[in-house]
Amino acid sequence: MPDFGLNLENHYARLPGEFYTLMPAEQVGVQPRLIHANAKAAALIGLDPASFSDPAFAQVFSGHAPLNDFSSLAMVYSGHQFGVWAGQLGDGRALLIGQARNPAGELWDIQLKGAGTTPYSRFGDGRAVMRSTVREYLCSEAMAAFDIPTTRALSIVASNEQVQREMPEPGAVLTRLALSHVRFGHFEHFFHSSRHERVRQLADYVMAEFFPNLAGDYVAWFGEVVKRTAELMAGWQAVGFAHGVMNTDNMSILGLTLDYGPFGFMEAYEPGFICNHTDTQGRYAFDMQPAIAHWNLRALAFALPSLIPKDRLVAALDTYEALYRSRYRALMRAKLGLVREEEGDDRLIGELLNLMAKAKADYSLSFRNLSGEDVAWLALFGNGNTEARAWLSRYRARTQGEDLSGLDRVNPKYVLRNWVAESAIRAVEDHGDIATLDRIFKLVQTPFEKHDGDEAFAAPPPPDMCHLEVSCSS
Ligand code: AMP
Ligand code: MG
Repeated sequence: MPDFGLNLENHYARLPGEFYTLMPAEQVGVQPRLIHANAKAAALIGLDPASFSDPAFAQVFSGHAPLNDFSSLAMVYSGHQFGVWAGQLGDGRALLIGQARNPAGELWDIQLKGAGTTPYSRFGDGRAVMRSTVREYLCSEAMAAFDIPTTRALSIVASNEQVQREMPEPGAVLTRLALSHVRFGHFEHFFHSSRHERVRQLADYVMAEFFPNLAGDYVAWFGEVVKRTAELMAGWQAVGFAHGVMNTDNMSILGLTLDYGPFGFMEAYEPGFICNHTDTQGRYAFDMQPAIAHWNLRALAFALPSLIPKDRLVAALDTYEALYRSRYRALMRAKLGLVREEEGDDRLIGELLNLMAKAKADYSLSFRNLSGEDVAWLALFGNGNTEARAWLSRYRARTQGEDLSGLDRVNPKYVLRNWVAESAIRAVEDHGDIATLDRIFKLVQTPFEKHDGDEAFAAPPPPDMCHLEVSCSS
């Protein structure tokens, strides 16, 4: 059985059986076929990209063959969905097929998504469609390129079976990597079933492997989770990323962007942007995200009283807002190239966001174009927009003497616009065209560079791709 030279350790399975179900993958579809694989992600687990061309690769990373003698497992967790306790959930279509220690000593989870049903599938079919697999594959690379903590994606394997969603669609298996896939909902699961000793065991597992410098200090650990979550939100807001389904079962205990579903990058700026068209109340609207993350941290805190005194939990939760604000402010200042602190800076940033909202200007280009000709920036706000013109001259005056040469390394030219992801998906689904996927993959991995010939992918959608809708179905 192949191990591709990986240094496998079965850590999670050292926890008691209540934490998971050991099981092989279902072997979905027939003759799995590798669509794309990611050399940068391979490096994270110490995998030689030469293995991509090994016929065993598509077998293993679709669940048709095991990874060495590792006993794969589905994890159990619970969670709050749309603000309501949802009870037991769990890996309904994910399977941990290995944990690999890389040469730097880090332990990485290797997880298949879409490799079949598990005891936690409830009404689901355990499948993933090619569409959502391509979206997650591209978006997790985009986020990594922006230096926003995220799960990564190693490969897409076509399952060669149709999967029923609103319509039948081609299926696929994504291989996802993360230091850990443990969610807030894992802790809630054991707390809400009064298994406090299990809460402690899980915290000890997470802390020993991923927070070793905290020496088992639960208070410090929760404080660190609050901080990472606040910084993650600042990263999302600054780049204009909307997650879409911020349920507590989709919140990573390591502060990673996790579970890419109906996400979207902001195009025409609208603070209340809802990327998930099934989120009719707008609970997870773009401008709600920082507050929702705090709500989710409270749900996590609620599950930890057996480890941490209540007043310490409250004190840690109370640090969230200042941590969020200071990181967000730093990121926004960097986007404008404001290094010296000057009075009026916050107002300048606020005025820009107001102008962008009023003109529905493209979020990413409103920052990126600041480093170019005035006309290109002004065009985003509509010709003859005198307020925009006035703001720009205030901005130019303010940044006299600032070094703006690094702006293009802060403000991406390419974000994964829905229509761009859709172009990759249609190419793969309609004509098995991997070249387009590969082209877009390279853009999102190096989003600050110019990429001659691919300028169109940096722009808002062409008219025929303006009205794409994204739902939870994936
Ligand atoms: P999500 O909203 O995608 O984060 O999923 C919420 C829960 O539903 C998790 O427990 C998932 O594992 C499960 N789930 C989502 N889609 C499927 C599917 N197609 N088959 C089985 N379980 C699923
Ligand atoms: Mg989920």
